[in-house]
Amino acid sequence: MEITEKAPAKINLGLDIIGKRHDGFHELDMIMASVDLADRITIKELDNDKIVIKSNSISVPQNSKNHAYKAAQVIKREFNIKKGVEIFIHKITPVAAGLAGGSSDAAATLRALNTLWNLQLSKEELAELGEEVGSDVPYCVYGGVARVGGRGEIVQPLPNNLSYWVVLVKPEFGVSTPAVFKKVKLDSIKHANIDILEEAVINQNMDIINKNLSNSLEPITINMHPEILKIKEVLSEAGADGVLMSGSGPTVFAIFDKKSRAERAVNSIKGFCKEVYLVRNL
Ligand code: ATP
Repeated sequence: MEITEKAPAKINLGLDIIGKRHDGFHELDMIMASVDLADRITIKELDNDKIVIKSNSISVPQNSKNHAYKAAQVIKREFNIKKGVEIFIHKITPVAAGLAGGSSDAAATLRALNTLWNLQLSKEELAELGEEVGSDVPYCVYGGVARVGGRGEIVQPLPNNLSYWVVLVKPEFGVSTPAVFKKVKLDSIKHANIDILEEAVINQNMDIINKNLSNSLEPITINMHPEILKIKEVLSEAGADGVLMSGSGPTVFAIFDKKSRAERAVNSIKGFCKEVYLVRNL
């Protein structure tokens, strides 16, 4: 039997840093939203007890460092499963981009193995297993729009009735999430208003969402890579309804209500950046 699962990327409509925890992670408050840019995970059972990772992309670790490997390891250990799996990752989402590509691959692996081995685990149970793999994995188990807290383990799904176009612009360099968090200074954080964003998501008010897009990590990553600011400016001038860096960056996203305007923005940004995607929210 072969099982294929989609692993969609996410953007952060809001990301606020509330403090630092005793375990060294930061306490976050975020609104996350899935977009229709997705890897595909295909899983096949093996007769031996191994986890084998294969991918079309050389940017993805093809060993035990892969988040999908770790997800399979957690499930095998937790349920004492002696069978092995081959996990093929068809990579579409850019790596180290602030789009949670690796975490989404891990979440898709959890969902696929839940089906393959008929474990009948709920989303809550899968999300709990995902916590061990990475901070964004619990959210990626749910997908859609959610308010996410703690280091990522508290996921409150929100109504998902929004409809918008997203232009994603990925600069040529990647960004290491831990390197960005290391530079956070708690006394000078520019806080995001997550309550307003949550209310606007519930009320389907794209205007308020676009006006309140905010990411406390953005000034830090822009300080390391000022090109991000230039990309934001070009997208704003091209008529975006809202523009923000996603996660720890460096990908910048722009929101549009009409596809035609989004297409025009894609044309404007192509002179600055080669890796540009036009997608819908999911
Ligand atoms: P986040 O937004 O959650 O911080 P990201 O989009 O910035 O994530 P990823 O694409 O998940 O970052 O990759 C981060 C690191 O994880 C990379 O350096 C990569 O080597 C490693 N990695 C492990 N598994 C995967 C995977 N399946 N896909 C991509 N990267 C992976």
